[in-house]
Amino acid sequence: MAFTYVVCTQCLAVNRVQLEKGEKASPRCGRCSTVFTIHDGVQELNPDGFQQLIEKSPLPVVVDFWAPWCGPCRAFAPTYVKTAKKLAGKIVLAKLNTQNFPEISTRLSIRGIPTLAVFHRKKELGRKSGAMDQSMLESWLSTYIKS
Ligand SMILES: [Zn+2]
Repeated sequence: MAFTYVVCTQCLAVNRVQLEKGEKASPRCGRCSTVFTIHDGVQELNPDGFQQLIEKSPLPVVVDFWAPWCGPCRAFAPTYVKTAKKLAGKIVLAKLNTQNFPEISTRLSIRGIPTLAVFHRKKELGRKSGAMDQSMLESWLSTYIKS
């Protein structure tokens, strides 16, 4: 069963959740029972959730810094979702809306979007700007996956 890690928006606990195929699964937080909103295996993070997830996730976390007004970001979204499903259990794919939460991208000096950055245990391991096709994305991410 494929799984990923999500951070609870209420209590900020990092939870391991199963991704059920073809079903509308609504996993809950193991600590406070808040229902998670995960779109096809990709969680939208707020700044608190971002900090928690990149610090506590046992797996590396990729964050797609995007915004609703950005055409290339929206065009890239389906590729990102497909890749999240394929790499579930190996690396966590999440998103951060830079229009709603500009402070994180300012702090990380993210200039253009989409930008993808990989984090593990609070450290940024790598960053790439611009949309990628699925094979480029997978091969880039594979360098951060422990086999
Ligand atoms: Zn919770």
